[in-house]
Amino acid sequence: MCADAPSMSDVAAAKRAFASERGLEPCANDACKCDACECGARCGCETAARDAKTCEPCVEFKARKLAATARRAR
Ligand SMILES: [Zn+2]
Ligand SMILES: [Zn+2]
Repeated sequence: MCADAPSMSDVAAAKRAFASERGLEPCANDACKCDACECGARCGCETAARDAKTCEPCVEFKARKLAATARRAR
């Protein structure tokens, strides 16, 4: 057990909380790590599917994560 790595269930719980807060369907995609995803059960964010589109909250989430990683690398 690795205690400091955020577990998948934490992300899933955050997604459900976000979705219910807005009256949306929660994202059910395990590959999607964005807790502000608005895609619902048919989320294709972060998948390799050709017609999968990353939603705007996930694009922002990814950019924020990339920026944080870049800042930490300095
Ligand atoms: Zn998603
Ligand atoms: Zn999304």
